[in-house]
Formats: sequence, C-alpha cells, structure tokens
Amino acid sequence: MVFLIDMIERLPTPWGLVRSGVSPDHLKTKTVAKVFEKIAKESGFRLFANVEIGKDVSLKDLREAYDVVVLAIGASRGRRLGIKGEELPNYFSSAQFVPWYNGHPDFSELVVNLNTETAIVIGAGNVAMDIARILAREPSELRSTDVAEHALEVFESSSVRKVVICGRRGPEHAAFTAPEIRDLAKLENIDVKFDAEQINSAITRAEMLATAEKDLHSNLEAMRLLSLRNKKKCNRSLEIRFLSSPLEFKGNGKLEEVIFAVNEVSKGRVVNSDKTFSIEAGLVISAIGYETQNIPGIKYEQGKITNIAGHVEHNVYVTGWAKRGPVGLIGTNKSDASDVVQLIISNLKKPKNSAAIEALLKSDHQTIDQSGWEKINASELISGELVGKPRKKIVNWKRLLEVGFPGR
Ligand code: NAP
Repeated sequence: MVFLIDMIERLPTPWGLVRSGVSPDHLKTKTVAKVFEKIAKESGFRLFANVEIGKDVSLKDLREAYDVVVLAIGASRGRRLGIKGEELPNYFSSAQFVPWYNGHPDFSELVVNLNTETAIVIGAGNVAMDIARILAREPSELRSTDVAEHALEVFESSSVRKVVICGRRGPEHAAFTAPEIRDLAKLENIDVKFDAEQINSAITRAEMLATAEKDLHSNLEAMRLLSLRNKKKCNRSLEIRFLSSPLEFKGNGKLEEVIFAVNEVSKGRVVNSDKTFSIEAGLVISAIGYETQNIPGIKYEQGKITNIAGHVEHNVYVTGWAKRGPVGLIGTNKSDASDVVQLIISNLKKPKNSAAIEALLKSDHQTIDQSGWEKINASELISGELVGKPRKKIVNWKRLLEVGFPGR
C-alpha cells in the first residue's frame, strides 16, 4: 500500500517540540530531527507549514478531503496554579518561558527580567529541571548551543545566582527521570543542593512501600549522594526543595516574594501542615504540566482530546500529548504514534482518491513547503556555523516567511 501524507503545521517551521521544547543544552536529543528529515525526503510526504487549522483551513474541510486526519498538536498551554499574585510581571508558565529561550516566533517578544538574585521554579518534573539548569548555568556554557540569541543576551546580563526548584510532594514522588537527576552531578559551575533530611526521610518511607516505581530507589540514592557532596563554593546554586506548595505571589507592581505552605507525608498522603515559609525572588516560573489547545468542533477532557486508543470520531485520530496528556518522552510518543497508525490501517476503507490541501487554501497563501523549510534550515545552520553554534534560529515570523517563501 502506498500512503500519501500531507503534514500541516501552524508555524513556518516543522519539528514541534524538538525545536521549541527540548532544552538547548540537550543537543544529542535533537538529533532525532535527522529521522524527521529522512521521512520528509520520502516520496508521498509533503509539508504545508504556515497553515493554521481553524484559520487557514477548517478541520471539517480536511476531514472531507482526506481519508484520515491525525491531530498531533501536542499540549502547548501551561497549567495554571490558580493562586493570588499570578498576574504579577515576571511570573511565567513553562509554556511561555521554554519557547522564549528556544526561539519560538510567538514568544520572541516576551519581556523577561533576570535582574534578581533568586529565581524559583515550581514543579518537580523534567521541564522544571530543564528551566532551572538553563537559569543557573554560566551563560558562556549556553553560547555554543542553539539557545535563541535574544535569550542569550538576557542570560549574559543575568543577576540570577540562586535557583530554587520547589516540589509540592516528597522526593519519592518527584517526576524527574533518572538521567536528569544523575546529570546534576556533572554541572561544574553550580552547587546542587538537596536537603539530606528530606531525602533520608523519603528513603525510609520508600523502603516501607510494598511496590515501588521503576528507578525509585536508585533515584533517591542519587539524590542522597548529591545531598552529601561537598559544595564547590560556586557562586551559582541550584537547590531542590520538596514538600513546598506555593500559596501566594507577593510584590508591589513586580514579583518580590513567594509564600509556601510546608507539607508533610502522613500515612502515605501529602498533607498541608500549618507552617509556612517564604522566599524572596524576582522571577518565578511554574512548570506544572500542560493542556492541549482547542480546535473548534473537537471534544476535550482533562486537558487532552477525548479519544479511544487514538480514535476521536469518524476519520479523525489523535496521537502524542494531545491523546494521552502531557507525559512521556520522544520515544513514548514514537511508539504511541506507531500504535495509532496500526489502528488507522486496520480501520481504513476504500481510498477517497481526492485530498489536496492546495484546493482548500487561498490561492495567495504563503505555504512553506519542504524546500522552503530547507532554505530556513540551511540559513540557520550556516549562520550558526559562522559563530560556532549548531544553528542560529530565526525567531521572527516575518523573517521566517521571507527566507522560506522568497517571492514565489
Ligand atoms: P511532569 O513530569 O508531569 O511534572 C509536573 C510537576 O508539576 C510534578 O512534580 C507535579 O507534582 C507538579 N505540579 C502539578 N500541579 C501542581 C500544582 N498545582 N502545584 C505545584 N506543583 C504541581 O511534567 P513536565 O515536567 O511538564 O514534563 C512533561 C513530560 O515531558 C514528562 O513526561 C517529562 O519526563 C517529559 N520531559 C522529558 C525531558 C527529558 O527527558 N529531559 C525534558 C522535559 C520534559 P505532582 O506529582 O504532585 O502532581
């Protein structure tokens, strides 16, 4: 069977989270883009970037024109904490802060002020860890990455020297994965601080569990070793505090302080104590998960698209974070996509013999196709090479369209 695939993308560039989500200091992870480019070279694949569903083309029209429509739209809205003071300037969600430093064209104008000694990251997952590392690193370590130029400039004049990650539950409940914890030991210019007492109590509690998640004991042991390590007396630190729930952001026209409740683990449950503490900080980022953005006519539940094993309705399917919720690594999404494709194949009926998105778009629409994207890609790679970076991202919509659609 020969499949013809049209990939529709809202931005002028493909690669989704690999381009605007994966941390700039995780260059190896980004090499998965080579797989994308190999697929893009196959006959039967076409890219239609700078095309937005609901604006340039409707889902209804796509459903009628194509045999199958797969929604692989991820989850780009940050969950909200819903506490007092969230409107204060210099409080961001990871859904704003990460795409800002990764050069997403919707976020290049975000005003980030790093004129503060202490920054707080809320959440005990890998996104929180990425953000905290990027904030705590010596800016010179970021110069050889593909971090956006506008963000590098801000990091280079940053006053942030202390980054505190605050998790609401205990170390045994943290969502960090093993490689991310182990990699903390490799940070040369940052003192990593875990509270030995918090970790030891968590180890005792974890030993009493009948069943434990894979990696739990080794993760706790890695945290214990980090808590015992001699501090190098660096002027930069990354502290991980558990059992701390944010209650309120305070400040006079700008963020100045965060009030936290101290939590406890009691009979396996995390509960509020009546104690609180506060941290003075001029920057707070919450990294507490994501929700899928709306597409008109599609049903949602708990931040993801309502589906059964990837089937949404009629010939519409969903995959990735939009299907399962915002959990899982690139590999998880790959195997998940493969399952959805198997389901699609088993449900396929007689082909429609139609399908051409060109007929659905306005004749003067500036679609970026694969050759347009290759121009953008080549331009970024060349300008990166000139300054010793893997790539220098173009972060402006207008410029991306000029490079990818040069007056065709
Ligand atoms: P995550 O792993 O689900 O972590 C979210 C964190 O936010 C949890 O610690 C959660 O605590 C906390 N949280 C949720 N609601 C909260 C609230 N109201 N107040 C305080 N804390 C709250 O999500 P993520 O960090 O966004 O990562 C998403 C997925 O991408 C994960 O599967 C992650 O492993 C993956 N990822 C991987 C990498 C990598 O491999 N390097 C990098 C980035 C992301 P509770 O547990 O108490 O709910």
